[in-house]
Amino acid sequence: MRTLRGVAAAPGMAAAPPALLEPASASGAPHLALDAAVTEACRQLDRLGARLRDRGLPDESEILEAQALMAADPELLEAAGRRIAAGTATDDAIVAAGEEAAAVLEGLPDELLAARAADVRDVAARIARAVRGEAPPQLSRRSILVARDLTPSTTAELDQTLLAGLALEGGSPTAHAAILARALGIPAVVGIPGLLAAASGAAELLVDGNAGLVMLEPGAEDRQRLAHWETELQGRLDAERALHDRPLATADGHRVMLGANIGSPDDASPALRAGAEGVGLFRTEFVFMGRRRAPDEQTQAVAYAQVLRAFGERPVVIRLMDIGGDKPLPFVVLDPEPNPFLGVRAIRLAERDPELLSTQLRAIVRAAAEAGVPRPLIMAPMVADLADVRRVRALLDEAVAAVGAAVTPQLGIMVEVPSAIVVADQLAREVAFFSIGTNDLTQYLLAADRTNAALAGRQDPMHPAVLRSIASLVAAAKPHGVPVAVCGEMGGDPAGAVILTGLGVSELSMGPASFGAVKRALASVTLAEAQELAKRCLDAPDAATARAWVNERLAG
Ligand code: PEP
Ligand code: MG
Repeated sequence: MRTLRGVAAAPGMAAAPPALLEPASASGAPHLALDAAVTEACRQLDRLGARLRDRGLPDESEILEAQALMAADPELLEAAGRRIAAGTATDDAIVAAGEEAAAVLEGLPDELLAARAADVRDVAARIARAVRGEAPPQLSRRSILVARDLTPSTTAELDQTLLAGLALEGGSPTAHAAILARALGIPAVVGIPGLLAAASGAAELLVDGNAGLVMLEPGAEDRQRLAHWETELQGRLDAERALHDRPLATADGHRVMLGANIGSPDDASPALRAGAEGVGLFRTEFVFMGRRRAPDEQTQAVAYAQVLRAFGERPVVIRLMDIGGDKPLPFVVLDPEPNPFLGVRAIRLAERDPELLSTQLRAIVRAAAEAGVPRPLIMAPMVADLADVRRVRALLDEAVAAVGAAVTPQLGIMVEVPSAIVVADQLAREVAFFSIGTNDLTQYLLAADRTNAALAGRQDPMHPAVLRSIASLVAAAKPHGVPVAVCGEMGGDPAGAVILTGLGVSELSMGPASFGAVKRALASVTLAEAQELAKRCLDAPDAATARAWVNERLAG
């Protein structure tokens, strides 16, 4: 037995024979002309997108829809056409054109565009396969997929009933393939040096996506661990299913509101089916993504009204677009920034381009009027101080006046820039609610870039500095009656949810996939126990220790 170490990318364990993903074969006689191959590639991508949507994965399906748009991009096809006219074989021409477009994207200094470069290459390779008449890759039996790297479309394309686990020599936990693996519940380990050479002769692999390990020819002890994990998982899933109709509450009945984090109107129904009491975070920037131009007021209003209507009386927090940082958009041209996370991001954009934000504010007001929501909840991201709140409020007042609707929006803020906590008493006088963005709060408080895998261990919100900040925010909010929610990933983490409840947070918003595990964790402690644990964790020496204390209690 040999153990290879990588980076844990999706939790779970599985053992199966490896399936090495073969690189695409060399070019042969073309079966299809470029136009027909593009049509075929788009058809495949649409089919895959629909499959993911049917499985309740609309965000993941959008990745493939965006790829279908890329496949039909006239610039890409023109570049390929020029090469074909100069005598290059059709499949080689499209691959070279894709490579050229990808290289341009990679030259831009941010991770999201680099990730898009992989998508362009993937699309070009798919068109080239269609030109050659090659079928997409297939698994013939239940396997652990082993590859250098994997694109989201290939991951989606494989028969998921046969895909037991994923092991990649390259990749990172924030790569699309890892995000998709997590959404599909497939254990995955990425960034494993020497994997391909080591796995090529192996009869069986065990992927441990919790520990970030891959065992070649697992022994009796590993099998026992796997069997134990499978039994535990089954028990956990049964317990979570049983909690579906129960509200989010501690063992002694202290209620915490359960919100859903959504990114598009398509996410509304699955969130409601999963038992969401409202939306704690609607990331509206996703409505802007995958477009060449900013959506106009009417297009936005339709999207927002759809969500408001779906949730009816239940509260929906619409977050103003959080563009910039790791979420740039092609139509928002920023000067190159050395530190995009410390740059012109979210509401800071309004200082340069107020119309972008004003259009969104008018769209929300209009949507609220149309959906019959008199007091829509609007949330400003990246607020640093009172001046930020007042700037957004002035634009909001203008928007209400411009639309002329009888709507009184409630303006709340994301608490994710540490300065907002320092001046929380000032902010509490002027905002309707606080919602803590623990993802950014942790990265800013601990000076650890949230997209840097090398600092993954430093990005844990269980750190006492983050917990103390949250405690101080709750204390500042209380005299003003301002509710404090959490919509960062910490709210969907069972240990995090228990501590946040103990610290006095009244609403947790998370991806619906986390509802069951969080309900289960909270139901296993009384409010007094959660408070006691939280108090202890405020004095923990580091995040790992605090996490271990809570997990010990949850396991016991
Ligand atoms: C956060 O920062 O915690 C948050 C919820 O917002 P985002 O992840 O979109 O930055
Ligand atoms: Mg944030």
